[in-house]
Amino acid sequence: MREGAQPVADRLRATGPGNDGPDGGPAGLRAIVLGAAAGGGFPQWNCRCTVCALAWDGDPRVNPRTQSSLAISADGVEWVLLNASPDLGAQIRATPSLQPRRGDDGSRDSPIRAVVLTNGDVDHVAGLLTLREKAPLTVFATAETHAAVGANPLFGVLDPALAAWREIHLGEPFAPLPGLAIEAFAVPGKVPLYLEGASVDIGTETGATIGLSVRCSGARLDHVPGCAAVTPALVARLNGTDALLFDGTVFRDDEMRLEGVGTKTGRRMGHLPVGGADGSLAALAGLAAGRKVYVHVNNTNPMLIDGSPERRAVDAAGWTVAEDGTEIALPVRGAAEETPWPSLPEPSRQTRLPTPPTLRTPTSSPSTTIAR
Ligand SMILES: [Zn+2]
Ligand SMILES: [Zn+2]
Repeated sequence: MREGAQPVADRLRATGPGNDGPDGGPAGLRAIVLGAAAGGGFPQWNCRCTVCALAWDGDPRVNPRTQSSLAISADGVEWVLLNASPDLGAQIRATPSLQPRRGDDGSRDSPIRAVVLTNGDVDHVAGLLTLREKAPLTVFATAETHAAVGANPLFGVLDPALAAWREIHLGEPFAPLPGLAIEAFAVPGKVPLYLEGASVDIGTETGATIGLSVRCSGARLDHVPGCAAVTPALVARLNGTDALLFDGTVFRDDEMRLEGVGTKTGRRMGHLPVGGADGSLAALAGLAAGRKVYVHVNNTNPMLIDGSPERRAVDAAGWTVAEDGTEIALPVRGAAEETPWPSLPEPSRQTRLPTPPTLRTPTSSPSTTIAR
């Protein structure tokens, strides 16, 4: 290959000395929270609930947040998006690592190489439309999510000659980029709102709602932006992770009703609450994890307010509430290095995972069918 024809990404990658990242940053898995809010963002365009009102009024106790998306990279040069939010344009403008470069021939070149979808919700897929301008892209999705999103002719604007859809299967790791291995697993959830029929199953475990386990250089990050219930199997799977990014949509199940801004409970929307005896704080209290971070936070959630009782409860339990731009770096870990927190054996379809003795196992929440 002649010198000038070398893609920008390869040139950047080739400049890295020793164990340092090719772009001069640390080597190993890097994750950037592009958007920490749930659907609608924070504040939401039509909402003046107690928490949104603080944001509209510029109260320093709250920071606005865009809709849920995470960018991950093994080398700091090429990036994969875990969900593409409607705010993707603004997120790219706020994130230098994702901004376009220029090829030697003057061509366009984006560091964004792929998108992995965790479900077909509008706040997770609408950003695909932002990625339509003639750049190569691979979109990874389960058959269920592909059927939901691909069936909409609007997404035909992603030029099929450049944008490839790849079907992913639960429990079968795939590599969206060299150095990154991602495994999808089912979490209790529901179909996207626009596919709900006369009745809807909440808490079913299918490919319609998935979590993603990302492995890179011996480290692991788990991304679960939507989850209707924490089951013992989910706790066993997440235990030992280096970083958990978990569904923090509502603090109280009936928070939207209490605020008078909606009638649906968090669970009805496919999101278990953070607080309460059966919320995620309690259900994941015994989880061994390097970092525990709430993402996908709804604009009604009082843990968005610095110093609120809900934020203090979350802080005291060792969690953080993600902001837009929150970065997580997981350094390269040699095979001989032990994790500072106990790690379970690799899950396998043949072996049942043992439950570690330190772990609190919440009761299983069977799926429920309810009328709309
Ligand atoms: Zn969402
Ligand atoms: Zn609001």
